[in-house]
Amino acid sequence: MHTLKNFLIQQFNFHPQLVDFCLSAEEEVKKPFDKIDKITEYNQLKILKAMQEHNVSDVHFAATTGYGYNDLGRDTLESVYAEIFNTEDALVRPQLMSGTHALTVALFGNLRPGDEILSPVGKPYDTLEGVIGIRPMSGSLKEYGITYRQVDLLSDGLFDYENIKKAINEKTKLVTIQRSKGYSWRPTLSVNQIGELITFIKNIKPDVICMVDNCYGEFVETIEPTDVGADLVVGSLIKNPGGGLAPTGGYIVGKEKYVEQAACRLSAPGLGKEVGATLGINQLLFQGLFLAPQVVNGSVKGAIFASHIFEKLGFKIMPSSHENRHDIIQAIQLKTAENVISFCQGIQKASPVDSFVTPIPDNMPGYDCPVIMAAGAFVQGSSIELSADAPIKPPYTVFLQGGLSWHHAKIGVMMALQSLFEQGAVQF
Ligand SMILES: *Cc1c(COP(=O)(O)O)cnc(C)c1O
Repeated sequence: MHTLKNFLIQQFNFHPQLVDFCLSAEEEVKKPFDKIDKITEYNQLKILKAMQEHNVSDVHFAATTGYGYNDLGRDTLESVYAEIFNTEDALVRPQLMSGTHALTVALFGNLRPGDEILSPVGKPYDTLEGVIGIRPMSGSLKEYGITYRQVDLLSDGLFDYENIKKAINEKTKLVTIQRSKGYSWRPTLSVNQIGELITFIKNIKPDVICMVDNCYGEFVETIEPTDVGADLVVGSLIKNPGGGLAPTGGYIVGKEKYVEQAACRLSAPGLGKEVGATLGINQLLFQGLFLAPQVVNGSVKGAIFASHIFEKLGFKIMPSSHENRHDIIQAIQLKTAENVISFCQGIQKASPVDSFVTPIPDNMPGYDCPVIMAAGAFVQGSSIELSADAPIKPPYTVFLQGGLSWHHAKIGVMMALQSLFEQGAVQF
């Protein structure tokens, strides 16, 4: 009989009890699945409407070369992004090489010697430590005389308003707010929480630039940080908004003058947004954006499914399966290094690309311990595709994210579980 259960057992060698356990766990998360489906539908319509309003057409998929003057597709894509994010302007470019680069361009473009950056939400994403100069790095903002201050979140994940107020001074030019937990054990900020923080900051200093690192957050809610007062919002196209199809790129959306300053840093003063050939990838950027809500939906479902399963098995998880989601990341504390390695190897085995590769922990620049990364992606390093990362140190937390479809995310989680099961780490 060609049932799903038989296929899983016979073709993927799953233990029958594991299959039963997972299929009943899936039944138990119907409610959060319904919730994300409604959000996805809203975002799908928002994107459809924006594409229609801007008369997206075949001509916009043509390639430009050289300087890329009058790249209609590029300019229209930027108008569509500005519409979706409810902003004056947008910079959406393949020349933005990664999320880190997009954030770097936004920061260097808008800061001048003597300015100060404030992070009111604790330590920023790892790679930004080098950019800001928290970790000494050649070419950092610190070397250009730009200083940095940080106020940590309170132990319950809330804002430390008192110390944030004290940290804002005459030099404070830009406040950077990271929406996602990234790779730390803290709750992800909701868009509304970000809005409250921005309102608080603007009440103290109205002209400060509020920038949000939106990586992993796009289309997980019906609103984005630009809907609640953010002046600049930045992200990567090989995460949520590229929908798995964008081969490279990043975006910066927000107030016109701040986007323009970023554009002048990306290209050159005086050139700004006018240059930048798109070499034929516009269609993938449009189509990926169009599919992004659906791809984010699959990722969020995979995260919810993993959260529920591992909570049932007695592991600590963040967030839990029935909490509202604000990004696509699922953190799971797996208790031992062996469990972390097994989990990541299971995820790798479930990949459509490089399924035969066995990931192992290794030292990486910028980390104080070995790190293991599982990813078998069509686009190199794409973490909207199913992937898992973990630093090998207590409490042995693995960060799971992505999945181009819910059904792929599901079998990925099941294979990670099977890998733990074979090692004797879990029982049903
Ligand atoms: C991924 C990520 C970045 C950096 O993006 P890269 O494309 O990996 O350089 C920055 N901030 C957050 C919160 C991220 O998740």
